[in-house]
Amino acid sequence: MTAYSNGVSDMEKRVSFVGLGAMGWPMAANLVRAGYDVYVFDASSDATQRFESEVGGHACASLAELGDAADVVITMLPTSKIVRNVLFDEHGVTRTLHAGAVVVDMSSGVPGETIQIARELAARDIKLVDAPVSGGTRRAVTGELAIIVGGDEDVIDRVAPVLKVMGRSITRTGPIGSGQAMKALNNLALGGSFLVALEALLVGKKFGLDPALIVDVLNASSGMNYNTQTKFRQFLLSGTYAAGFSLDLLVKDIGIAVQLAEELDADVPVASVCKTIWSAALDTLGTGHDHTEIAKVTAKEMGVSFP
Ligand code: NAD
Repeated sequence: MTAYSNGVSDMEKRVSFVGLGAMGWPMAANLVRAGYDVYVFDASSDATQRFESEVGGHACASLAELGDAADVVITMLPTSKIVRNVLFDEHGVTRTLHAGAVVVDMSSGVPGETIQIARELAARDIKLVDAPVSGGTRRAVTGELAIIVGGDEDVIDRVAPVLKVMGRSITRTGPIGSGQAMKALNNLALGGSFLVALEALLVGKKFGLDPALIVDVLNASSGMNYNTQTKFRQFLLSGTYAAGFSLDLLVKDIGIAVQLAEELDADVPVASVCKTIWSAALDTLGTGHDHTEIAKVTAKEMGVSFP
């Protein structure tokens, strides 16, 4: 094995990547651009093939092929359940993954399930790190994600060069599963602050204030939050509703956070209402919508015309 100037072997310069969706595609693309030999697979064979032809890397025909190709496997998938299937199914990654390999689960998932997956991988002498991300598709593209990492220090050290390609900040939160807990709590705060600011926007519009002016004033004042700064003008007022984060996934994350609170016997009345409102929007709109489209539902309920 050749040693690279940064001390990693050629096998360590190989990365397998499962899940080429809104986030996974630009993250894997950054690894290709950084000189990694990237082996990709997505349930959509079209996405897998397009990635190889448009970005580079190697399109794998199966998870087994991908598992055999590298000793670092990144998963960027919708749910922990899908991560489990991808790893342990009859034709899954662990069928061929080498002992000593590391799986880096960058999906947002359930802490308890992540801990259980880590145990099952450990029985095969495979390590797991949970490394969910925040920052959305915009920062996935620029390689400036906030990466929240749980797991053993020495294992995180081993994959840190790979994480640094995709993230601006890498925060270690503690043992395996702690990254997932922190990520779910972040998205609870994201979802709650979105709803309150949206209500402020719509009440303001009903009062007769100009919506663009409301957003500008919020963003110049103490009522600002991440949503008012990066989504309200860009995806609500523009009428594009294309933030790149699905309503389904946000409802999943808020559900994980509320479940965590229940398991800890913590009373979370605001979070519970937040979950109810986002879940109701999903029921109304159905799956496959951007999370910003909740504005249409709330505006209709409030009797406010909105783009
Ligand atoms: P996405 O739905 O756009 O992409 C998921 C990808 O996984 C799809 O390409 C799908 O084909 C693939 N996939 C599904 N099942 C598969 C399987 N069994 N085998 C192989 N591939 C499979 O989702 P996303 O927005 O990229 O989100 C991925 C993860 O990142 C989620 O856990 C999400 O909560 C989290 N996340 C998303 C954002 C965002 O802004 N979109 C931000 C932070 C974190």
